Amino acid sequence: MAGILIYSDKDNLALELLTVARLIADARGLEVKVACINNASQSNLLSAAGVRVYKIENPAVIPADVATVAAALKEASGQLDCSIVLLSSNRRGRELAGRLAQMLGAGCLTDISAVKVEGEQIHCQRNALGGATVATQYIDGDKQVLVIVPRAFTPASAQDGGSIVELAVEVLPSRVKLLEFRAKDSSSVDIEEAPVLVVVGQGLNSQEDLASVESLAKKLGGEVACSKPLATDKKWLPEDRVVGLSGKKCQPDLAVLLGISGQVQFTVGIRDAQVMVAVNSDENAYIHQIADYSMVADLHQVVKELNDALA
Ligand SMILES: Cc1cc2nc3c(=O)[nH]c(=O)nc-3n(C[C@H](O)[C@H](O)[C@H](O)COP(=O)(O)OP(=O)(O)OC[C@H]3O[C@@H](n4cnc5c(N)ncnc54)[C@H](O)[C@@H]3O)c2cc1C
Repeated sequence: MAGILIYSDKDNLALELLTVARLIADARGLEVKVACINNASQSNLLSAAGVRVYKIENPAVIPADVATVAAALKEASGQLDCSIVLLSSNRRGRELAGRLAQMLGAGCLTDISAVKVEGEQIHCQRNALGGATVATQYIDGDKQVLVIVPRAFTPASAQDGGSIVELAVEVLPSRVKLLEFRAKDSSSVDIEEAPVLVVVGQGLNSQEDLASVESLAKKLGGEVACSKPLATDKKWLPEDRVVGLSGKKCQPDLAVLLGISGQVQFTVGIRDAQVMVAVNSDENAYIHQIADYSMVADLHQVVKELNDALA
């Protein structure tokens, strides 16, 4: 039966893709098929979510060389009669998408946050104009690579009916030689997973002031994140802390935004927070318009008082 193929090397993202794939498959009468590459535990996890998993065991396919993953998926999609492939819109997924779409001669849409099937068309919502608006677009053609924003869909939960089938794919040996794996710096945090974020912007006076912001974040049970200039221009925080269009899209329960003006390239990464509290000394700053609670105040004073109150 013709199908829709999904792939992500991350377990939680693969489960989210399964939710989207079922939505499309139900409307189009397709079968959902999952590719798991050199990942036995993921095969088990996904089959327990009630789907048919195609397990690819091939040492020539290495995550460090996305071209080999794309080649494996191209062959899998052909063997499994899947003209639609769903991937996740993280950094590696986007690179994979471009390569795979080129190999398949398919259309490709990245950063999809919602989908709706309208007859033969799959309407996809994506941010446009730097996040200032949302565009609805579809690919006019059978071959489609659709790349879904992480956390836009609920992960599929366990259900019966799954199975695992081995799938052999031929892939040319990678020309990339993997010299070593290095664990991530222990100071790195995943701001997308944090329930509370204290996000600092250019209103912060100095790098030394980060200590009190860090202390506040810890007291609130969260992590520190930042606007882009703080990481890329001032280099006060690593780039994996940036919220926004070119950073992470976060959905914390609480976001405390300190000294941030609220330009669209930033807000697109935080507007799905449950509660937003903004502190900005300029009463006309746009951030006050989108925050649930806002304070026209000096952020350093507010951070000090909150730290004292929570001591
Ligand atoms: C293609 C592209 C992609 C981009 N991607 C991103 C992205 O992913 N993330 C991102 O953040 N930006 C991104 N940007 C940059 C973005 O447009 C803004 O320049 C940036 O978000 C501004 O950061 P900011 O709010 O910290 O600084 P500013 O705009 O300079 O705002 C600082 C604010 O601090 C306030 N302030 C000053 N002193 C105090 C004080 N003592 N107490 C309280 N408030 C104070 C000021 O009133 C001001 O509103 C991108 C831009 C482009 C062109």
